[in-house]
Amino acid sequence: MKKWNVGIIGATGMVGQRFATLLENHPWFTVTALAASSRSAGKPYSEVVSKRWAMKTEIPASMADMVLYDATADIDKIKEKVDFVFCAVDMPKDEIKKLEEMYAKAEVPVVSNNSAHRGTPDVPMVIPEINADHLEVIASQRRRLGTKRGFVAVKSNCSLQSYVPALHPLKEVYGLKAALACTYQAISGAGKTFETMPEILDNIIPYIGGEEEKSEQEPLKIWGKVEGGKIVSATEPSITAQCLRVPVSDGHTAAVFAKFEKKPEIEDIKKIWAEFKGPAQESGLPSAPKQFLHYFEEDNRPQAKLDRELEGGMAVSVGRLRPDSQYDVKFVCLSHNTLRGAAGGAVLLAELLAAKGYLD
Ligand code: NAP
Repeated sequence: MKKWNVGIIGATGMVGQRFATLLENHPWFTVTALAASSRSAGKPYSEVVSKRWAMKTEIPASMADMVLYDATADIDKIKEKVDFVFCAVDMPKDEIKKLEEMYAKAEVPVVSNNSAHRGTPDVPMVIPEINADHLEVIASQRRRLGTKRGFVAVKSNCSLQSYVPALHPLKEVYGLKAALACTYQAISGAGKTFETMPEILDNIIPYIGGEEEKSEQEPLKIWGKVEGGKIVSATEPSITAQCLRVPVSDGHTAAVFAKFEKKPEIEDIKKIWAEFKGPAQESGLPSAPKQFLHYFEEDNRPQAKLDRELEGGMAVSVGRLRPDSQYDVKFVCLSHNTLRGAAGGAVLLAELLAAKGYLD
């Protein structure tokens, strides 16, 4: 089996640490370069992250002594060591856009967690179970950038990684007219722990900057069509969202209301969820959950604490499905925000890209 060398840009951050742990024993990908800001560059990884290590497992031994590169200044050095990079950095959007295109133009494909390029029409934003066909826009992106190998591909925002997968197979069968989602989002989604976000204890904060717009608009790109080398966003369904920060370490929950063109039966929906598979499952990608959507009959599930690690944190949990008087149905769903919602989703996307030859 072919193996790919990979770099993690933003390796010291919350998502970067997740990448490090997920890739430690990955069957296809070997981490050969770690990079962060100039503040961290030149120091061993373990020295920089030891005081802010937020994972439950130890710092991967194979990476502990790696000396961090400067993500911007050292692109030429990183390029020599990797076949592609994962990118998750906290920088102004325009700087991230520029940084990611610098890697792409250096012929280093970028699989990104950042939101900077999600709206770029020739950058695919892919949930591998849902819109793998959008990868075909990479050819026109390469033409725009003047590259042979280099491109940017992104994963979508973590807030929608539970309700878009739950709604997608229903949309295919019943036609989705409208969706309303209230999200209850974990603090790791802000790169925080309870130590670094004490204001969340015994509290709920009803504002996450930019999150409601992403939660409403990004699903329309995911459900969009490739036309003339670009992704044209869908115009339906209408989606409205409210996003709250809650005192939970990991796992974003969403309370969802949905209206369809054809009214579904509750038991049929459960059957559709149980049977739903996408290219990630069909191609046997290493990080793909065997079953993508798990339905719980218990009234008090899904719960972040109990269900976020299901299938390595890559599955989506759904429960409390019932009829609604205003919409057709309502339900609650949950996905792990730094696994399925961030690093894990990006690793799965990279596996799809590798399997389809985009990283050769
Ligand atoms: P974080 O914990 O604050 O980490 C930020 C990372 O960016 C660190 O590695 C930091 O390096 C690096 N960085 C900051 N300024 C830089 C610069 N000028 N040049 C190069 N690297 C720089 O943030 P995070 O939560 O991991 O989020 C990272 C990205 O992923 C963000 O775009 C975020 O929106 C996105 N995201 C996060 C989640 C989540 O659940 N947390 C989910 C989806 C998407 P230093 O340590 O050297 O400062």
